[in-house]
Amino acid sequence: MKKSFQSLATKGVQKLTPYLPGKPVDELERELGISNSIKLASNENPLGPGAKAVAAIRTHCESVNFYPDGSAYKLRARLAEKFKLDQACITMGNGSNDVLELVAHAFLDAQTSAVYSEYAFAVYPISVQAVGATANVADAFPPDHATMPLGHNPETLLASVDEKTRVLFIANPNNPTGTCLSTEMLRQILDGVPEDVVVVLDMAYNEYMDEAFHFDFGEWLACYPNLVITGTFSKIYALAGLRIGYALSSAEIADLLNRVRQPFNTNLLAQEAALASLDDEDHIQKSVLLNNAGKAYLQQAFAEMGLDYLPTMANFITVNFRRDAQPIYQALLRKGVIVRPVASYNMPEFLRITIGTEAQNRRLIQALSEVLS
Ligand SMILES: *Cc1c(COP(=O)(O)O)cnc(C)c1O
Repeated sequence: MKKSFQSLATKGVQKLTPYLPGKPVDELERELGISNSIKLASNENPLGPGAKAVAAIRTHCESVNFYPDGSAYKLRARLAEKFKLDQACITMGNGSNDVLELVAHAFLDAQTSAVYSEYAFAVYPISVQAVGATANVADAFPPDHATMPLGHNPETLLASVDEKTRVLFIANPNNPTGTCLSTEMLRQILDGVPEDVVVVLDMAYNEYMDEAFHFDFGEWLACYPNLVITGTFSKIYALAGLRIGYALSSAEIADLLNRVRQPFNTNLLAQEAALASLDDEDHIQKSVLLNNAGKAYLQQAFAEMGLDYLPTMANFITVNFRRDAQPIYQALLRKGVIVRPVASYNMPEFLRITIGTEAQNRRLIQALSEVLS
């Protein structure tokens, strides 16, 4: 008799649990027969894409019979200018998840290990396990830590590096906690890690962070040859549906990542929209202001409801309900409000809530107060 395919898959894949995305609006409305639902579950920009990106998509939609530029020349040139880097230091990805996987493929196998923190972004364990590498999971800061409850701890991260470690993943700010390491803490990690460990700094929410957390990518990359910084057009640039992101690194590391990259991994419309969005400072500015106002409103409303939340530098707030949050999630769904359970992150008492438009935030608070009363 033929063996099951389960037993034929590689060891890493056999134990893999797929990434659980936020529930799509269409799916909820189909299931419950309701309409007018809102999704605050995937940290998408509630303003939608900027006018310049939309115009670029319209302009180029009739050219999709052509393959995209496999080297994404124009976009990489624009990013190189933005970050004051050589073009050879930029690797494009089908979303930044793609470049995280490229790092895993280029540097990890069954003989190696990778380090990341408890409560870190789910794509790290998946990418590490898929290539059969060992995961060394570092303890996060305790829940009562003054500035970074459940956040990444530089000391435990460094202590988790062993002789087999090739990659250390850091999300800053981290999803699903929203916590952010100071530049001093990041330097502590970069200065403390062996030079042959690639440090991936995943900065998907970079543009939302307070000024004090910003640093010059070019300067840091020049200083740390083992550093890879990843960025995305999915969050503040509002192009999640087009799937486009990038890695900044030394030219040597970029060359390795490009060897495992599929030739046409970023599509034609995504490249054009991303390029146009980089010139839409107004839209970015508007998105930051909306997020800051929404964050202040929601944090005050949560406090008035007696709810604790984790400090955030991103476009979402992770709320601690101090009891199983699944029934609250379900009740919110029935009111047409989709948020994100994080039980799969070992945080069953929390829900992650994306900061929306003013109207969406009010609707969430209204629904939540009904559910909790
Ligand atoms: C959303 C997110 C990303 C971006 O993923 P894309 O593949 O670029 O859409 C990357 N890292 C973290 C931590 C995120 O939350």
